[in-house]
Amino acid sequence: MSTDLELILKIQSLDQRIADLQKEIAILPKRIAEIAKALDARKRRVEVDRAALAANQKERKRLDDDIKVQEQKISKLKDQTSTAKTNEQYRAFQAEIDYCHKEIRKFEDRILELMTDSEPLDQNVKKAEAALALEAAQVEAEKKAALERTEAHRKELEQVKAARAQAAAGARKDYISNYERIRKRAGGVAVAEAAEGCCTACNMTIRPQVMQELRQGLDGIIFCESCKRILYYNPPVLIDETA
Ligand SMILES: [Zn+2]
Repeated sequence: MSTDLELILKIQSLDQRIADLQKEIAILPKRIAEIAKALDARKRRVEVDRAALAANQKERKRLDDDIKVQEQKISKLKDQTSTAKTNEQYRAFQAEIDYCHKEIRKFEDRILELMTDSEPLDQNVKKAEAALALEAAQVEAEKKAALERTEAHRKELEQVKAARAQAAAGARKDYISNYERIRKRAGGVAVAEAAEGCCTACNMTIRPQVMQELRQGLDGIIFCESCKRILYYNPPVLIDETA
């Protein structure tokens, strides 16, 4: 293979690395968004547990208030009892007081139930919050690693681009212009190896005469007659078994 062609092949591998790095860099925002989404799902689960606990506490508070109302009613009814003129009136007040006591007992039973329920709810919230804190720390670490990786990719991209520019400056004009033209059309691969009588890009057979020209390694570009890519040929490495 001529050094001119070797340089074009080198440019092609640099271009492939540039494309890979650009792809890697481009997916970072998507990756960060995915990480954030996973954490949001966890946060929502914690919110559900917190809401259940809050509802429990709110109901207890309301029942406490209801009990106070009943107690006030009882105190008022007791005052009224002393003003009762007849037994009938007295019994009516007494019946109302009994009813209020019954109500209070009902509320107290419900408060006990709620207190029993609140223990596992409280534990759920504590567990969920601990899991969230752990996950948040993991997410932060993952984000940091992703950012660092991207930063390394950016630095490498700059270096590869500089190497590419240098290689392109030293390449033969007709070689590089053919390379650029084919690369645009053929989606990346413009230079393909001819191996075992075939073009490794399109897998079509290369005519023996063309293979012969490739083997001779003469000056000038040889194109694949099927896919029109630039062909190169690496002679098989002979291993000296007597050594
Ligand atoms: Zn081909």
